[in-house]
Amino acid sequence: MSASLATVSYIGATILFILSLGGLSNQETSRRGNLYGMIGMALAVAATVFGPQVTMAGIPWIVGAMLVGGAIGLYAARTVQMTQMPELVALMHSMVGLAAMLVGFATFIDPEASKGFVGAAKAIHEMEIYIGILIGAVTFSGSIIAFGKLSGRIGGNPMLLPGRHWMNLAGLLVVIWFGREFLAAHSIAEAQLPLIVMTVIALLFGIHMVMAIGGADMPVVVSMLNSYSGWAAAATGFMLSNDLLIVTGALVGSSGAILSYIMCNAMNRSFISVIAGGFGTTSAAPKPAGGAAQPAGEVVPVNATETAELLREAKSVIIVPGYGMAVAQAQHTVFEITKHLREKGVNVRFGIHPVAGRMPGHMNVLLAEARVPYDIVFEMDELNEDFPKTDVAMVIGANDIVNPGAQDDPTSPIAGMPVLEVWKAKTSIVMKRSMASGYAGVDNPLFYKDNNRMLFGDAKKMLDEVLTALKA
Ligand code: NDP
Repeated sequence: MSASLATVSYIGATILFILSLGGLSNQETSRRGNLYGMIGMALAVAATVFGPQVTMAGIPWIVGAMLVGGAIGLYAARTVQMTQMPELVALMHSMVGLAAMLVGFATFIDPEASKGFVGAAKAIHEMEIYIGILIGAVTFSGSIIAFGKLSGRIGGNPMLLPGRHWMNLAGLLVVIWFGREFLAAHSIAEAQLPLIVMTVIALLFGIHMVMAIGGADMPVVVSMLNSYSGWAAAATGFMLSNDLLIVTGALVGSSGAILSYIMCNAMNRSFISVIAGGFGTTSAAPKPAGGAAQPAGEVVPVNATETAELLREAKSVIIVPGYGMAVAQAQHTVFEITKHLREKGVNVRFGIHPVAGRMPGHMNVLLAEARVPYDIVFEMDELNEDFPKTDVAMVIGANDIVNPGAQDDPTSPIAGMPVLEVWKAKTSIVMKRSMASGYAGVDNPLFYKDNNRMLFGDAKKMLDEVLTALKA
């Protein structure tokens, strides 16, 4: 493939990636967005493999690696459970970081790669290597820890080392100092030590950064690491002089940064304080006796028939799905119930919290899969005011996102996070298996409210029973 054809293909792929991101911002166009992304990626890979940067001798290696990588990816995509998706995404981010690191080291030790660079161009090339490895190492180790936290292999509580901010600052200063040493080095042997020291510090920083973040802040971390992986890819693009990789990395990096900002807003958190860590410090730790706002009182359990009765009598229902709906794979039964109620003239709507589930858009994906119409699925802000006019608010496997303690209890680890105000409905029904807390490890006073009912059991099983009772 000629260089000009490869450039045209790169421009085509870039346009398709931008169209893809545009499409993914809306539920109705998201399938099309995915398709654009897939075509763009196929074009990008083909133009790179058959482009001027790859020699014929390299093609069998690339094809071999693609077959192995593609087979692993296909297997992972087919076998992963929807609830394990965030872990898989974290693992993939770590691969991007690892790739950036390895490309950085390969470029560093390959004399061919730096041939022809003199003066300012040499300094810029070396800076690309240094910064590329730095971002790659932080992304790699941070994403591995995020994977551990999301999959429950590492506890959700923040690890708060004494003087951690000073430690980070000292690490940063050392990295800057060794950066100077690296640029001033005259040979690979001389530059080796600064590069290795920086890599070790960056790896430790990635671990420390994510370990210090509390359970409730994980949504921001997931999107932030997504952003980092984009910048790591862009850095790789600079090292390999590949324009498409630079553009694609920048698209991922900036869209991830925008998503992190949206997630921070959704949780009423400042980005800096999330990165500084410590949110959710008290999560899962028992509060002192007599401590503020310890939820207490009686819970009122109901069965499936009583739930069906409440739904049948309602004129308006808001369904709030959460992580438990994903675990139970209850979305199809939720759709059946919705269909049945709407046929009976009940106004059924869905309220989606921005951090419901375990990844951004988790609930929207599940509801779309179950063919719930998009026009009855609303963002939290769009219908929070409607709860007082609602007969039944049905909470399916959600917990943190409907916790009134976020508003009433300033000592709560999730204090200040906007929540869906289900308790303002005439009756709220919470469907879950036990009184256990949610991801943030915080007790939920909603369960003890007078107008709240608890339907205990697996969400899928209970909803099947509710559907049978509704149809009876
Ligand atoms: P939560 O984790 O707060 O609560 C989910 C509830 O579902 C649990 O209390 C559990 O209770 C219940 N549950 C689990 N399995 C089942 C089942 N089979 N049937 C019925 N219920 C079940 O989820 P939310 O969606 O309310 O909140 C999301 C939380 O996850 C927030 O804290 C958010 O910060 C965090 N998070 C979000 C991310 C994102 O990007 N969206 C990423 C990472 C974390 P029980 O065990 O009693 O059944």
